Amino acid sequence: MATYRDIDKVKYLCDCGKKHPICWLYLCRHCFKLRCGDCLLHEVDSHFCPCCLENLPSTEAKLRKNRCGSCFDCPSCGHLLSTRATNTFIVNPEDPTKNIPKKMYYLACGFCRWTTRDIGIGDKPVATGGWQDLESPHLDRVTMLLEYYKKLSLKENSEKEREKFIKRRGHIYYTDKFSLATVALKRKALNSPSAALHDDDTTVLEIEPAEMVTEFPELDDEIFSTPIQLNKITTIDQRLSSPEFQPVQVNNMYPRHKHLQVRKSVRCKKCDHNLIKPDYNSASTKFKIQSTAMYHVPELRISNYNVFSPKKEKKITLTLSNPAIYNMDIEFSPVQGEDLFSTAKVDLPKKKIVLARRDEDALYEGSTSLENAFDDDPAVIVSRKLNKIIFNIGVTPVISGGEVRVAFVMRHSYKNVTLGLPSEKEEVQTVLLEHTIYAQLGQIQ
Ligand SMILES: [Zn+2]
Ligand SMILES: [Zn+2]
Ligand SMILES: [Zn+2]
Ligand SMILES: [Zn+2]
Repeated sequence: MATYRDIDKVKYLCDCGKKHPICWLYLCRHCFKLRCGDCLLHEVDSHFCPCCLENLPSTEAKLRKNRCGSCFDCPSCGHLLSTRATNTFIVNPEDPTKNIPKKMYYLACGFCRWTTRDIGIGDKPVATGGWQDLESPHLDRVTMLLEYYKKLSLKENSEKEREKFIKRRGHIYYTDKFSLATVALKRKALNSPSAALHDDDTTVLEIEPAEMVTEFPELDDEIFSTPIQLNKITTIDQRLSSPEFQPVQVNNMYPRHKHLQVRKSVRCKKCDHNLIKPDYNSASTKFKIQSTAMYHVPELRISNYNVFSPKKEKKITLTLSNPAIYNMDIEFSPVQGEDLFSTAKVDLPKKKIVLARRDEDALYEGSTSLENAFDDDPAVIVSRKLNKIIFNIGVTPVISGGEVRVAFVMRHSYKNVTLGLPSEKEEVQTVLLEHTIYAQLGQIQ
């Protein structure tokens, strides 16, 4: 869990110059560079409901205001509402003297016990889809504004196209020897969206401008004398979670349609290749392409909490783990150029370290240590187990108080193989990747 919790301790330098923990980074397998969220294009692949997992195309999701039609959230606590069935007795239409049982349904929150019965919504004879939506009091105004801005953008677009046409005309005049281009242009103009617009379509109707409220009605005297019953008034969170109604009284809260979520894919801004591509099926947790740095770049962690003395060298231990299915060669070197981050001198391992591959079978078999499998220098390598090594570095703080920080460069071999699919014919490309690492090692005491 240290990977996700102690994310400030060890950071890797992204190609754009920002420092991020490894769990926030991606590795572009085409540029061979680390990429952070800002260096990527985020694209929405599909919309889906996190509860019923229904997939929706983006146009339909937009029409439904990005909400699921059949799942509801509790207006009181935000937990998912579940449908409860209950038996009621109704008069038998064939024999009015007898009652027959009938199943009715209502929504209830399993967390705060809020139910649709609390606000007087009657039970429904069907389990799903019987819940009427409230109509927003500002619906007409919002529709009018939407129409207005749609027409305005249409008008602007058609004006832009007309301008382009006028600019191009001089050029056409000289080159068009056989008057074929004019025919082609006319045909193109007929097909273009602006051609479909007649003058009356592009005239934008003026709408009533919004009015500023300058005067407010006086508060009732009652408000100062009547004690407030907090259990009958909604909280700010409850009000703002349904922005179109903003109920003040608890009995005006209404079930909220569940928000849709998106599956997104990310793309490298430099080379346009996909770095993350999820499976289209919303029930699946698999990825078609997954290129997060954690699957390709060795992860460095600080083994212990360290306390330093000023100007005195201390050996500290670091852990490196290999996420890949091949053995990696690791080398360390100091940062080239100016280093404003470090507050200590660091003595890095001089020789190449071999990091054993990740082997899931060995993990479950409880397999042996690899102490003797590699030619390790005992002064550097403290211990080695499966795909992890613990090694020493010497750190001498150059400050007399405060935080001890070091920066260094780590180089590792990288093979462009797809996980689980060892390529047979293709020759696997091996490159050396270089990352700058910034580590906060501890404090001076
Ligand atoms: Zn970046
Ligand atoms: Zn749903
Ligand atoms: Zn609730
Ligand atoms: Zn790239």
